[in-house]
Amino acid sequence: MKLFAATIATETNTFSPLPTSLESFREVVFYRPGEHPNDAPRMCTAPLFVARSRATRGDFVLIEGSCFAASPAGITSKQAYEQLREEVLAQVKNALPLDGVLLGLHGAMVAHGYDDVEGDLIAQVRSIVGDACVIGVEHDPHCHMTIKRLQHCDVMICYKEFPHTDVADRAEELIDIVIRTINGEVEPVMSMFDCRQIGSYPTTLPLMRAFVERMKSFEGRDGILSVSAIHCFPYGDVEDLGSRLLVVADGSKPKADALAEKLGLELVAMRGKTTPEFLSVQNGVDKAIAIREGPVVIADPADNAGGGAPSDNTNLLRTLIEKKVVSACIGPIWDPIAVRLCFDAGVGARIPLRLGGKIGPDSDTPIDASVEVIATIEDCWQSFGPTQVPLGDCVCVRIDSIDIIIITKRTQALGLELFRNLGVEPTERHLVCVKSTNHFMAAFGPIASEVIYVDSNGPLRRDYRSIPYKKVRRPIWPLDDHVEPKLVF
Ligand SMILES: [Zn+2]
Repeated sequence: MKLFAATIATETNTFSPLPTSLESFREVVFYRPGEHPNDAPRMCTAPLFVARSRATRGDFVLIEGSCFAASPAGITSKQAYEQLREEVLAQVKNALPLDGVLLGLHGAMVAHGYDDVEGDLIAQVRSIVGDACVIGVEHDPHCHMTIKRLQHCDVMICYKEFPHTDVADRAEELIDIVIRTINGEVEPVMSMFDCRQIGSYPTTLPLMRAFVERMKSFEGRDGILSVSAIHCFPYGDVEDLGSRLLVVADGSKPKADALAEKLGLELVAMRGKTTPEFLSVQNGVDKAIAIREGPVVIADPADNAGGGAPSDNTNLLRTLIEKKVVSACIGPIWDPIAVRLCFDAGVGARIPLRLGGKIGPDSDTPIDASVEVIATIEDCWQSFGPTQVPLGDCVCVRIDSIDIIIITKRTQALGLELFRNLGVEPTERHLVCVKSTNHFMAAFGPIASEVIYVDSNGPLRRDYRSIPYKKVRRPIWPLDDHVEPKLVF
């Protein structure tokens, strides 16, 4: 049995002022065949990573393709996408004949000229490998699930957890189903229910936690192979933006249809009830100060680099300074120029620094302050589950008693190492402020006495009705009151 695996992935915020180029992929994940590190998957590369370890056990022969992934940002250049795609397609051609293809894709990538990048890629792979080859795809649930993708692959699976702690587990399941399909043991058929809604569904809160367990309870019995909830990515303005429910069944389309509709309607019933409460920045910081037991974690989802935001909005930091908070830390602020200046000044130096507030109107204005350079680390990192996420060169600077982590490789707060690697122990701080929507919860949730979500003036607006959508198919809730959820595949 011969399988091929590859990745082309990014999450595109079509409203972001930061274009995604070939260089953006080179900065993050750019592995040619055989170059993928052995320690952990990187972003969406779990199918290749897991397949490699199973191939060494002799389950099948794996032909490794390239893995490319860029941090979430604006629309990818046409040239960059086409170059990456042509490289992977040439590898697929060279690997023929193939029994199976495994693709680790984010699912919300948009390139100039391609609103459905993944649909294009999967269809082109299909045209090369033919109908007999089994194509299995793993997606992030923050994706735009188009019918084109489902038409051209055999098995599609999304991560169930948000934070995405189950990337490798879902890749294992995907590979299991692909192998059983190749062996003729199962015959996957897929059905999708379109909930006609935009929403956010952290699985750390009770309602979605229970829904994840409910999805799992159907799997592996009565002919159901896999159930995925497509959360949607609200900041990618494409026709197919929206929450959906996908079922993979063995052989029986009516069975897949029935379960997709049943669970899809349950997701519709949860509309508007799955997100945490948001406070204004002022009220959030006041509430945190009043809580005696630390660390209180304050999350700033509106400036989450994981959703394509620059991560240099100064709203929350300025409020911390104005309120003269003590024992606080905040990160990450993305400001490569500030990092360079601090490296040049050296640890222990006190310098005037213009920090953050630079990339666009949603960055707010820069903070001008006298800062003390506390730490400088080259090629720093943080962990996210089994994944190691690069931060680039990083510094910690102090303003009053606030320690600020500034990074050069734009990413959200994921692991405690974001602070620890620069000598800041988050468990010893009263206030720990993170730029992230919910992925921070995997590491910061367990250390927090309380978690407070604030709505800053960053670019990722929490009220979807204020986003200037042009392409999303209407009607859709909450932009429209009357919507018609239905089975679409
Ligand atoms: Zn995601």
